[in-house]
Amino acid sequence: MSDGKDLCYLTIREAQEHLKGRQVSSVDLTRALLERVHEVEDRVKAYVTVTEARALEQARRADERLKAGENGPLLGIPVAIKDNMCTRGVRTTCSSRMLENFVPPYNATVVERLSEAGAVMVGKTNMDEFAMGSSTENSAFFTTHNPWDLARVPGGSSGGSAAVVAAGEAIFSLGSDTGGSIRQPAGFCNVVGLKPTYGRVSRFGLVAFASSLDQIGPMCRDVTDCALVMNVISGRDHRDSTSLVDPVPDYTRALRPDLRGLKLGVPKEFFVEGMEAGVKEAMETAIRQLESLGANIDREVSLRYAPYGLAVYYILAPSEAMANLARYDGVKYGYSADAPTMWEALEKTRQLGFGAEVKRRIMLGTYALSAGYYDAYYLKAQKVRTLIREELKQAFERYDALITPTSPSAPFKIGEKAADPLQMYLSDVCTIPVNIAGVPGLTVPAGFVGGLPVGMQIIGKPLAEETLLRVGFAYEQATRWRHQRPAL
Ligand code: GLN
Repeated sequence: MSDGKDLCYLTIREAQEHLKGRQVSSVDLTRALLERVHEVEDRVKAYVTVTEARALEQARRADERLKAGENGPLLGIPVAIKDNMCTRGVRTTCSSRMLENFVPPYNATVVERLSEAGAVMVGKTNMDEFAMGSSTENSAFFTTHNPWDLARVPGGSSGGSAAVVAAGEAIFSLGSDTGGSIRQPAGFCNVVGLKPTYGRVSRFGLVAFASSLDQIGPMCRDVTDCALVMNVISGRDHRDSTSLVDPVPDYTRALRPDLRGLKLGVPKEFFVEGMEAGVKEAMETAIRQLESLGANIDREVSLRYAPYGLAVYYILAPSEAMANLARYDGVKYGYSADAPTMWEALEKTRQLGFGAEVKRRIMLGTYALSAGYYDAYYLKAQKVRTLIREELKQAFERYDALITPTSPSAPFKIGEKAADPLQMYLSDVCTIPVNIAGVPGLTVPAGFVGGLPVGMQIIGKPLAEETLLRVGFAYEQATRWRHQRPAL
């Protein structure tokens, strides 16, 4: 059997084979990962909480189920969960002072489903506070470092979830994506990340940021793993009324090594001004590769409303956030400041409990929704949202999927954009239109620029996850980017 570090870099499918063949037990695998966590965590800082004892207990139970002949795809597989998904008995902080000591009395539906499937939770991952950000620098606790270059950000807001997969600190993870928070960090860390169709995965127990945009999805080492996780977490949940009733296919059946018969469009608006030259080159190479796999590529697609996605997002997301975050009043749960009167206590709680970016979003949202400005900002943004959605819908009458870069740049340096919120917001220009339209988006590793990972995004129509996985799978079979490991 291979050494401990090799175990840590197994895919779900490979780990499953090892478990089934009894070469390794879930306890062995979990121990190897926990050792890896101890070895690298002082440099990567991706976990807010490591649930060591609980993980070993879950692993022991998984081993019993395996011994009894059970054989689920995630049985005994170690996973990391972004710290905005509720875990019964394990604190769920959203990387905020506000929830620093919040221990939920219930599990998010995704956590429940993973646990029933026998997955082993290693810990809860660091993020930008309340998922607002693109670098994890907005975490109230610490910044996560990109395993590919510790001086750089892992992306965000699910930066911890991307970093643990890249650093061999979990076999896979869950992230959440409101404007790019799964795809951008996955792209920055050479990881596969899927933001499913809005409603495909239950949001019950996900701490709400912008409820019309939020979606949970898998972050994995390859496309097959993403399909396996989707099989477990997708589907109707009566506790989330926006979850879709459509039957869940077996996503692994879509995986085929060629792209014959598929028509792919490359929308030119996503190759934005100021995009890094290396990213553009990597994309051109990737697109030629897709062509050689049999896809019919149209490079002249135009989506004229997509560039307004960013502006629409920074009205709608803060508006929804300011309403969602009104619940943190120091009374019901979370941080509570002491003060002589109720109003003073409320004020002080929010003053000390929230970080600067969260306060900025609350103010932006409050402004956009205020009586005199509602029509000019919120209402207008909703109208443009419809235009973006309609335009994409029309594009999908002609194309099976659209191909874009995941981000306009490779991972940036820690501190480089932290002082300039507008620069930070621009990291999500390519991913935001996907949330605005509620459609699925997949990112797969697509090369390196100066040793730093670049991601390619594949966008499809609602519930076209299978098409995206097929494109991603064929591409990854033809390339070797996913086999690279950071020199940690
Ligand atoms: N970076 C974007 C923001 O700051 C998107 C975050 C997300 O998807 N959660 O809002």
